[in-house]
Amino acid sequence: MKNDSWKTHFKERLKTVDEVNEYFSMNLPKDFPFDINIPLHLAKEIKDSDNQVLRSQFLPTKEEITSIQSRGQEDPIGDQENSKHQGIVHRYQNRILFFPTTNCPVICRYCFRKNELSDHEDYLKGRLGVLEKYLQENSALNEVILSGGDPLMISNEKIEEILHLIKKFKNIKYVRFHSRSPISMPRRIDDKLIEILSSFVSDFKIILVVHINHVSELSDESIKAVQKLSPIKMLSQSVLLKGVNNDAFILKDLFQKLDSLGISPYYLHHPDKVKGAMHFDLNIEEGLKIMKELRQLLPGWLIPRYIQDFSSGKVTLA
Ligand code: SF4
Repeated sequence: MKNDSWKTHFKERLKTVDEVNEYFSMNLPKDFPFDINIPLHLAKEIKDSDNQVLRSQFLPTKEEITSIQSRGQEDPIGDQENSKHQGIVHRYQNRILFFPTTNCPVICRYCFRKNELSDHEDYLKGRLGVLEKYLQENSALNEVILSGGDPLMISNEKIEEILHLIKKFKNIKYVRFHSRSPISMPRRIDDKLIEILSSFVSDFKIILVVHINHVSELSDESIKAVQKLSPIKMLSQSVLLKGVNNDAFILKDLFQKLDSLGISPYYLHHPDKVKGAMHFDLNIEEGLKIMKELRQLLPGWLIPRYIQDFSSGKVTLA
């Protein structure tokens, strides 16, 4: 298999309203206002299984158009307000977010950046220089978080280039990737990627925060991808979503399964108030009740922090 065969896989996707309407026999309007990206392998899985959890997370719906009218915002956590430089968000003293891409393996319909995502191939061009300059000028930093989009949607060569750049700064002790790829594009976890990540483990600690919301997202292939990543420390982040996982037993199953795969539950995000995704919203009281129930079902070390993101930073709710 070619190293980057995932790229071929990435190109095979539903990108337009017409393609979605035809594949799923739907009738979304031609002027559907949000981007669409469903990899074909996932589209096939959704169609074959008719799994409602997958459908509601990844299939565009008319509810998104209806929910534009409610209180959602385009940039609910203030990325633009906190963006000091192209591709960098600096909210906390010790760490920065760096966005090497706006591509994702799939566009999740609830995404807090759904109004910012697009498909620019050359997004990284020029940004490495900006990152290098920022690191030179901010020696108090000790962590770089690669987010996006999904930072694993860039090539192995570019990932290696970024890690080499970061390695020059001895004050950087941690490099974190926030990624949905192991779950939604498991083929992305190729041997070369593992080799590159492993080659930097003596320079800084690499942490992979895997985004997953429900146990039914785990296919055989994604389980294998996660197993390949076992030399890397893995944490999880999930979003609490109405109609997907707002149930203590569903989350219990998820966190137990993740633990069995070597992934420690880390964050459970309260859903952001996103324009076009308010149909996933629920109130904090419901989230707190679910957390209380989880404490009856799981040991404390298997329960993630329930958090809410604001422009000023994260607030732990439970
Ligand atoms: S993978 Fe993450 S950034 Fe990309 S669409 Fe899904 S939630 Fe948004």
